[in-house]
Amino acid sequence: MTQKNENLMDKIVSLAKRRGFVFPGSEIYGGLANTWDYGPVGVELKNNIKQAWWKFFVKNREDIVGLDAAILMNSRVWETSGHVAGFNDALVDCKACKARIRADHLIEDALDVKAEGMSTEDMTKLIKENNIKCPVCAKMDFTEARKFGLMFKTFQGVTEEDSNIIYLRPETAQAMFVNFKNVLNSTHKKIPFGIAQIGKSFRNEITPGNFIFRTVEFEQMELEYFIDEKDWEKFFDYWQNEMTEWLEYIGIKKENYSIREHDQDELSHYSKKTVDFEYDFPFGTKELYGLAYRTNFDLMSHQNSSGQNMEYFDAENNRKYIPHVIEPSFGVDRTFLAAMVDAYTEEEAPTANGKTDTRVVMKFNKNIAPVKVAILPLSKKENLSKYAKEVFDMLKTEFACQYDESQSIGKRYRRQDEIGTPYCVTVDFESLEDDAVTVRDRDTMKQERVKIGELVEWLKEAF
Ligand code: ATP
Repeated sequence: MTQKNENLMDKIVSLAKRRGFVFPGSEIYGGLANTWDYGPVGVELKNNIKQAWWKFFVKNREDIVGLDAAILMNSRVWETSGHVAGFNDALVDCKACKARIRADHLIEDALDVKAEGMSTEDMTKLIKENNIKCPVCAKMDFTEARKFGLMFKTFQGVTEEDSNIIYLRPETAQAMFVNFKNVLNSTHKKIPFGIAQIGKSFRNEITPGNFIFRTVEFEQMELEYFIDEKDWEKFFDYWQNEMTEWLEYIGIKKENYSIREHDQDELSHYSKKTVDFEYDFPFGTKELYGLAYRTNFDLMSHQNSSGQNMEYFDAENNRKYIPHVIEPSFGVDRTFLAAMVDAYTEEEAPTANGKTDTRVVMKFNKNIAPVKVAILPLSKKENLSKYAKEVFDMLKTEFACQYDESQSIGKRYRRQDEIGTPYCVTVDFESLEDDAVTVRDRDTMKQERVKIGELVEWLKEAF
């Protein structure tokens, strides 16, 4: 990580706390590893990302329907999907400083090889042979690589017996497979069609998480697209393109991400082809989203295991088959982080006393900006506040607004810049005379006088 990038991450984490995007989880008790809480501005940004995704992938299409399934599912779901037996990370402990590190990450950071999917024996050998050092204390004294389960377990009922073990879901995908027939029978969709879901997933991630990049509790936006096997290549390309369009829709800059195809030995047991959308985070180029061709592995496994028929009947060709699946998978929290990194800008800007200083501005795409319009009376004088509150009441039904009258106008502009508010509407004493306000543009800082009667239309056009 370069010094510049290290600073950038520190700046983003500190801004996130200062302005109410993200707070460390359970902070007053010293925190809880890899948990974070979304604050007043953060929850708006997160909701905007989820709503934009739902609109883009569900509401605006005829071929995708939604689902909101229970987090807790019958354990047989996870036995069948392969998670109980195989969902684990290989970890090594540094004997000198006790740091616990993911073996594949240790190898990939030190050598130019892909280690995901390698056996623990091969990982241990590679680490020894290449004298890989501990990133924390720089010693070379690791335990052998060992597998650790990633699923959180709990118990249903009063007794903590093995037979009562249930898991917090580690992905949202399985609920779409388990409900495939319910959705098909209730909607009469024809293949190709998809089921989409947004919801929490849980993974017992032990290694440190780079802020909200890797957390134990996170949200996924996943979509299972059911197809006829012969069409898989066509739909894989189609969904790769849709995912690119989505990134453009929320304003993630093209130069900041790339698409990487998995090598054969990196593929999950169920996948024939997978690509990762990788974003250039300040701490390295890492997975933002995944796109996988899952074959018909999941539906077939659930059919075999549950005894329930998972076939689709193609009436046109009078043929029954188990559909294949293309799965675009998105992390809400990683989208949030990429949006923060993408938006973070420092600019030289003039101050009130004629000097210049650095202005921090979050240039979020207007689709996802947490607050769209801030209403700022120039002073707290009663008649001005009253007028400004009327402006707020007029705008609040159309746009996500914030009313702010504390501190100087300069400080308030800077605060709105730091949460990425596209437009600030300032109410001054002249407003009382001419029924007009000043609208300031976040990016250009240009100010324009707009008549109150035209303000809603003016803003609608600007968005
Ligand atoms: P990684 O290799 O980084 O652990 P993964 O390949 O295991 O990720 P998937 O199982 O493909 O991830 O999950 C789909 C998406 O869910 C990821 O692309 C990512 O956006 C998000 N995601 C997965 N694990 C986490 C986590 N621990 N914290 C936050 N988001 C996550």
